[in-house]
Amino acid sequence: MKQFQAESKRLLDLMINSIYTHKEIFMRELISNASDAIDKLYYKSLQEDDTGLSRDDFAIQLTLDKENRKIVIEDNGCGMTKEELEKNLGTIAKSGSLSFKQENEKKENIDIIGQFGVGFYAAFMVAKHVTVESKAYGSDEAWCWQSSGAEGYTVDTCEKDSHGTKITLEVKDNTNDDNYDTYLDQYTIQNLVKKYSDYIRYPIRMEMHKS
Ligand code: ADP
Ligand code: MG
Repeated sequence: MKQFQAESKRLLDLMINSIYTHKEIFMRELISNASDAIDKLYYKSLQEDDTGLSRDDFAIQLTLDKENRKIVIEDNGCGMTKEELEKNLGTIAKSGSLSFKQENEKKENIDIIGQFGVGFYAAFMVAKHVTVESKAYGSDEAWCWQSSGAEGYTVDTCEKDSHGTKITLEVKDNTNDDNYDTYLDQYTIQNLVKKYSDYIRYPIRMEMHKS
């Protein structure tokens, strides 16, 4: 088990224990990361003409598994190497989250979450366990990052056929105050995508089931 950097651990704690009412923004954060990752690879493909990648191949796939309480967000973007997984998901380098944290400590105003991009850790507002399987474009190794929160994370080698990132959220159990089951409902997710991710320039796909 590896430890989170002190600052990310604090942001993570805040997310895990969040009483914030709009936990649904986790979807916006994860989809925007997927889109950013596709952008990176798409721009690379424009600069190099032997990649064989075409804009139409890029997409974000959502899958719900109600029975096993899982939400899967998958992209075929640039992916991450082992080092990138550790650096990007174990530390906070960017100013957005840092200023969020400082503001939040000053004002104790949890509503700030809505305005700032709190990023990847927003997943922990709804998930008790997060798995990130990733294969960097051009690499033949895939890596699996896993965390159940503040205790730390693990990174192990794994199998993944194609480049990109697959994030699996194991959704928290309902409490008296919070209904997490709703995030396993296809219509809730469909509405969240419409509400927050309408501007995303790549297709966002989800197989709908008759209920
Ligand atoms: P931000 O998007 O503001 O940089 P995040 O906390 O949302 O911050 O994500 C941290 C970093 O993790 C990103 O900058 C990116 O490098 C990496 N990352 C997150 N999700 C993905 C993904 N789906 N594919 C590739 N890299 C990702
Ligand atoms: Mg982000």
